[in-house]
Amino acid sequence: MADTSSAQPVFRFAPSPNGLLHLGHALSAMLNHDMAKASGGRFLLRIEDIDQTRCRPEFETAISTDLAWLGLGWERPVRRQSDHLERYASALQRLNDMGLVYPSALSRGEIKTAVADAEAKGQDWPRDPDGVPLYPGRERDLAADARNAIITGGKPHTWRLDMKEAVLAASALPLTWQETGRGPDGETGLITADPAAWGDVILSRSDAPSSYHLSVVVDDALQGITQVVRGRDLYHATAVHRLLQRLLDLPEPVYHHHRLLLGADGRKLSKSNRDTGISAFREAGRTPADIRALIL
Ligand code: GLU
Repeated sequence: MADTSSAQPVFRFAPSPNGLLHLGHALSAMLNHDMAKASGGRFLLRIEDIDQTRCRPEFETAISTDLAWLGLGWERPVRRQSDHLERYASALQRLNDMGLVYPSALSRGEIKTAVADAEAKGQDWPRDPDGVPLYPGRERDLAADARNAIITGGKPHTWRLDMKEAVLAASALPLTWQETGRGPDGETGLITADPAAWGDVILSRSDAPSSYHLSVVVDDALQGITQVVRGRDLYHATAVHRLLQRLLDLPEPVYHHHRLLLGADGRKLSKSNRDTGISAFREAGRTPADIRALIL
């Protein structure tokens, strides 16, 4: 009999347990769940808890409670990123073997000062798509002994992607993705990825052996995710994900970025605002059908 399993779409909802889920998460989870159901696909849950300083077990429990209350069934076992740190470390090692990453001990404060100094001199400092000033790249071209001094020096350090070299290494084919949702400017269809706009992104943090960008692509591949449905705030980050997928020989999912829900202040909902928490609606006697009617 023909193996049709590879043709089955696989969706995932991938929250970080660093706060209570809000209506924006409900929208993301419901879209993933409903699209999986409509296409005969699978719906997985992944707990993105790389940042152990902010993630807490009680928030993970609250995620399960909220999703179950919303009536969204997901497959077990749930993948928890903190259980798979060695996977991210080996992906980083592979990029290191390719000569595409370097250690960086410049602290956030030092980066801020470098940028402020340059701007004080009238220099127009480039910013990433989220508006954050790009890393100055100072440690990119250090000689081997200076690099080793960073690694063994005891000061906290990150690992950064040498974006220029990485883009070059991936340049044999055009870097694109298929967008079935919309970007912030209505982009849809075949999108050209521009990872260089992010500069030398962090792939391994000083306090965690990975970063969002690295772990998300490793996990999407390991879980066989074919459809990434997530908020539009991550639209531009997809360029970095496509670059890492190309460099690490990982399959390319289809991407669908959905609209963001805004609060009364016109800003993206945040986990710190208790009013829009799913549990707050539950406690106020609202039903899952009310939530659906409110956001879908
Ligand atoms: N963990 C991310 C978040 O909570 C979502 C990652 C993704 O969907 O790619 O915002």
